[in-house]
Amino acid sequence: MSSVPTVLDLALPSIAALQPYQPGKPISELERELGLSGIVKLASNENPLGVSPTVAAEIVKASATVSLYPDGNGFGLKAALACFYDIDTLQITLGNGSNDVLELIARAFVSPSDEVLFSEHAFAVYPLVTQAIGATAVISPAKDYGHDLAAMAARITAKTKAIFIANPNNPTGTYLAADVLVDFIADVPRQTIIVVDEAYVEYGDEGKASIAWLAQYPNLIITRTFSKAYGLAGLRVGYALSHPDVADVLNRIRQPFNVNNIALAAAEAALADQDYIAQSKINNAVGMGKMIRALTDLKLESIPSHGNFITIDVQQSGAVVYDALLRKGVIVRPIGNYGLPNHIRVSIGTQAENQTFIAALTDIL
Ligand SMILES: *Cc1c(COP(=O)(O)O)cnc(C)c1O
Repeated sequence: MSSVPTVLDLALPSIAALQPYQPGKPISELERELGLSGIVKLASNENPLGVSPTVAAEIVKASATVSLYPDGNGFGLKAALACFYDIDTLQITLGNGSNDVLELIARAFVSPSDEVLFSEHAFAVYPLVTQAIGATAVISPAKDYGHDLAAMAARITAKTKAIFIANPNNPTGTYLAADVLVDFIADVPRQTIIVVDEAYVEYGDEGKASIAWLAQYPNLIITRTFSKAYGLAGLRVGYALSHPDVADVLNRIRQPFNVNNIALAAAEAALADQDYIAQSKINNAVGMGKMIRALTDLKLESIPSHGNFITIDVQQSGAVVYDALLRKGVIVRPIGNYGLPNHIRVSIGTQAENQTFIAALTDIL
């Protein structure tokens, strides 16, 4: 090494070694690269129905307030969430997306000498927030692509400061039933924070089950988001529900204005529009059913999914199939970085988008 340090040498070693999160390819980028139009993006599990009309109206209204700082305490949104879940506002931490909250949790509770436990094929943000701190990631083997809770329990040590479980999991779509998950949580030592990341909970039928656990387990944090079923991915708003003491800690390190005016107003309106969630769920269920039938016709297996996406075994390099789909104007997600090199993850879109994907995939295979 030369005697003159590079900027990378100046960075914390754990951060210099980080591989940044790989987001789904934006439509505009593929348009620029290939000069295509009419691109279908099924890569980031966004709501294909777009934003609900009542929320769109609130966004226009709230745009008149952008010269002012937002309410740093998010009073209106927290009051709406507290009412929706029948909890106290002091149990809520708002985030710039739930990703923000996941990072706050790691920063607030985990030190470099600690261990953070999560499963193989778990959401990519967990290793990222762990490594950014310089803590040790303990990766438990998966079972049938999903969480093996017995294997995870066996890996809890005195150093385990946090456990992350996405339910349903991304990118596999696997799901732990409420009764199974709560048995695991009950056995987690109180000095270990357990995070249940419910980004896709609206697509299932146990939406409020975990909320009741908060009263019993002060080390439990539930994270949720407006990015997926609520259709507000671009506005960046998510939240954590926890014991008030945990929320107090998280709110100390949160940026004072981490959720903007428009996001606060839109999220509050979105929460009130449960008809849109019901409609989104139906679109997803119908699309999922048709997608599975089309994949069966193509003799392809997929992992049974409880989210708004499906992970398909393409029986060859997922990266190659991903590239071929891009050239046909369809963006999906290769997931070799999740330890699934022969799978692709595909969001359930509108019925037309799903058909475009199936036609492109049929051509390629
Ligand atoms: C999409 C996703 C998130 C983060 O979404 P935000 O847009 O940051 O709220 C969190 N967890 C999982 C499992 C996800 O798939």
